[in-house]
Amino acid sequence: MSKLLDPKNPSGPVKIKKMRVWVDRDLCIGAATCIAVAAKTFDLDSEAKAVILDSATEEEKETIIEAAKACPVAAVIIEDENGNRIFPK
Ligand code: SF4
Repeated sequence: MSKLLDPKNPSGPVKIKKMRVWVDRDLCIGAATCIAVAAKTFDLDSEAKAVILDSATEEEKETIIEAAKACPVAAVIIEDENGNRIFPK
């Protein structure tokens, strides 16, 4: 697996491009759709839960939001810098 953005918080929350992003590990079912959409941002750990990679900073903001929207269980949660929910609403 590639390097984590925050090794202490593998699934976030992390700051990426003025967004706060995290994966609800209880919801995540390891479907890997997020990885298919945003391969620089997400990977699966040994428990088949999505984690956030340090290369997430190279991903387009919109791509990360699309990945959150593509997750079948809405386990990727994104807020703006003011704590307003971007997705899921
Ligand atoms: S798409 Fe959702 S359920 Fe699938 S790995 Fe990503 S966060 Fe987990």
